[in-house]
Amino acid sequence: MSADTGRIFDIQKFSLHDGPGIRTVVFLKGCPMDCAWCSNPNSRELRVLQLRDATNPDVLLPDSRDYSVEEVVRTCLQDLPFYEESGGGVTLSGGEALVQHRFSTRLLDALTAEGVHTAVETTGYASPEVFGRVLAASDLLIIDVKHHDAAQHRRWTGVDNALPLRNLATALAAGGPVLVRIPVIPGVNDSPEDAVAFARLLSPLGVREVQLLPFHQFGERKYELLDWEYRMGGVPALHAEDLTEFRELLNDQGVRAFT
Ligand code: SF4
Repeated sequence: MSADTGRIFDIQKFSLHDGPGIRTVVFLKGCPMDCAWCSNPNSRELRVLQLRDATNPDVLLPDSRDYSVEEVVRTCLQDLPFYEESGGGVTLSGGEALVQHRFSTRLLDALTAEGVHTAVETTGYASPEVFGRVLAASDLLIIDVKHHDAAQHRRWTGVDNALPLRNLATALAAGGPVLVRIPVIPGVNDSPEDAVAFARLLSPLGVREVQLLPFHQFGERKYELLDWEYRMGGVPALHAEDLTEFRELLNDQGVRAFT
């Protein structure tokens, strides 16, 4: 992919959950992780995949297409009055927005030039050089920490957590706004011991606040449409009230947790 062209599988307008205010979320293809609970499994691969049409499963549709920086900026600017009114902006997500880092950086620069607030949702799994460039180009970094334990992180995401943690430390040291989130997944990282271990990992890095993302099953249908096996099939979703103890344990350790 060139720096001017990005492969995108969705552009969602009027999001209220991916940074402050009303936002447009740009979902980029490609991800180095393989999380068992991934709700956008087609995003993992950079290549265009065939997905069954939800309304007519006999029909196959491409899951993504290529966009120029200008096309994405034009689409995002349609909602500029909403960003201004609500303190919102544009969030790059995925997949992992840092896989297509040259395109992402160009897009962030172009949006900034138009006066649009930018955020990047990332796993932090990228080379420190790439991470540093994207960090410098965005107004807000949103980093998901998936497991406190290196071996469990490898087991459930397919990769080590050393690089994401190193990049998280860099982002915190840079002093810009960073939102740390924990996807809380049943049987993976949701025990009281996990809550304490997360706090003991994050607190020394200077993390004072985390957002908890309760496990949901919104992605299940996508596995069916891809004809892929889903490792979390039948696992009950969590709700904010299920995380009360988890939240309190983090709070007790000096890390304010909210959902
Ligand atoms: S990091 Fe996100 S996009 Fe990548 S596999 Fe995990 S949940 Fe899916």
